[in-house]
Amino acid sequence: MGRFDEERREMVEVLKERGITDERILQVMAKVERHVFVSEPFVNRSYEDTALPIGKQQTISQPYTVAFMTQELNPQPGAKILEIGTGSGFQAVILAELGCRVFTMERHLELLFQARKIFEQLGYRIASRGGDGTIGWAEFTPYDGIIVTAAAPEVPDSLLKQLADGGKLVIPVGDLDVQNLKVITKVGEKFETKEVRGFKFVPLIGKQGWNGK
Ligand code: SAM
Repeated sequence: MGRFDEERREMVEVLKERGITDERILQVMAKVERHVFVSEPFVNRSYEDTALPIGKQQTISQPYTVAFMTQELNPQPGAKILEIGTGSGFQAVILAELGCRVFTMERHLELLFQARKIFEQLGYRIASRGGDGTIGWAEFTPYDGIIVTAAAPEVPDSLLKQLADGGKLVIPVGDLDVQNLKVITKVGEKFETKEVRGFKFVPLIGKQGWNGK
């Protein structure tokens, strides 16, 4: 038995209580070891349902948020998914475990390199690159799903353009204090938008995001 197996089981119970119902997602949240993506002095808190610092003033998202966004994205095995905001790499690995072909972008190279190291160690084939994800990753378009794990002031046009027909963009949009999660589905030439509850993310910084250093 691993050091955190019991804590991870308890975390999954919390996710169920909070309304995560997709069995596939509950299974991968029970499998992927979140503590591998967390550094000291926070490792002991890896299975609390809370965001934790990962350096560069960024965070690994709260487990509930990861599960909820993934449930909204509803990615099928084989789906091509673009993630903006690699951070620790945890969300990317959750998607890879669901059988997706994952492409992920991060503006902080230090975080990107650390996440890459983990992908390699764990044997995941995840495509990753540094840069401003607000303009997307044109080379591999179109995507069946795009998930943005940082808060945007508005929906970046470039990301909408990179969606496949029937594809979904999941993105927190709002001010710096609180955001609503937008789930936008491309249907032919149109977009259908659903909006869900209050969330709190670190800012999406870039050409079609907030200004920042
Ligand atoms: N998905 C991550 C995980 O599983 O650990 C959580 C990411 S954290 C909440 C958001 C990340 O988005 C940060 O690492 C931040 O540097 C990154 N970010 C912010 N603006 C970005 C941009 N324009 N392009 C790419 N990454 C960006």
